[in-house]
Amino acid sequence: MNHASDRSSAHYSPPADQRVDPAQLFLIQLDPQAVVDGVRYDDTYLADEIRTCGTMRETCPVCGEGHLQLVLRQKNVRVAHLFCLECTRCFGAFLEDGTPALIE
Ligand SMILES: [Zn+2]
Repeated sequence: MNHASDRSSAHYSPPADQRVDPAQLFLIQLDPQAVVDGVRYDDTYLADEIRTCGTMRETCPVCGEGHLQLVLRQKNVRVAHLFCLECTRCFGAFLEDGTPALIE
């Protein structure tokens, strides 16, 4: 008699304590050269024809100015990321469990 009582595949239930806003994003600064194809000058890194796809609710964690722009993958963009127009930094967005939040 083999009763299928193996529960090892039981669904994991997240804790009932929902303190964390599900939309909360963790921003990690990225090396622009890792996400965008551009040309490096002495102390800046430029790429042209990059289209932003919207403005995020999040503001830049570095300079605090303005809202981050969503940049999806396109000709000169290898990785979807968030971009600050004020300080031209690039950020990756991750969920609390470390999975990328920008999924295409
Ligand atoms: Zn900034």
